[in-house]
Amino acid sequence: MPDIGGLQVVIATRSGRIRRLLQGVLRRLPQRDRLAIEAFVGWVRCEREWKTYALGGMLDRRAAALLPRAPTARGAERQAELVLYLPVCRLFSDKALTGIVAHGLAHAVRAVSLGEGWWRLLGDRWKQEERKADLLAMRWGFAPELHASAQEQVRVVLPRIEESERHIVTSIARRISSRS
Ligand SMILES: [Zn+2]
Repeated sequence: MPDIGGLQVVIATRSGRIRRLLQGVLRRLPQRDRLAIEAFVGWVRCEREWKTYALGGMLDRRAAALLPRAPTARGAERQAELVLYLPVCRLFSDKALTGIVAHGLAHAVRAVSLGEGWWRLLGDRWKQEERKADLLAMRWGFAPELHASAQEQVRVVLPRIEESERHIVTSIARRISSRS
């Protein structure tokens, strides 16, 4: 079972870039928060293909998401998984993606303090939680990386996604119909 420097979070991806960045972020965290994350996030995995919100709908623009772990999944003794969406991640620089990973892990620390029903609570207070995750990641020392990810999101990533959205959505629809 792959792990990182003796840490318990399973990184279930072959993406060397993601592994390296994640390792770098975890190393920079204060021990208490890192331990909380290890106890809560069992799994980090990557999605390799673009996703749409609904069939033929808008592209999912997220680079990362903290999701509840299905109770039947491997590693479900811990409650959450961090999912990285590679087609979006690829559009960010290493520095910006480091900020995104730190922000995602900050959500995990928040989720631990929310306790039971964290998934619903994070959704209900989405705006507030976004801010809190950023503040915590800044306290960890990731302000420059967060700044880079916010800038690249607006200047590079969203324009690129919009540019190629129609083409990508069409090819997703084709992929889906060829499977059925
Ligand atoms: Zn967030």
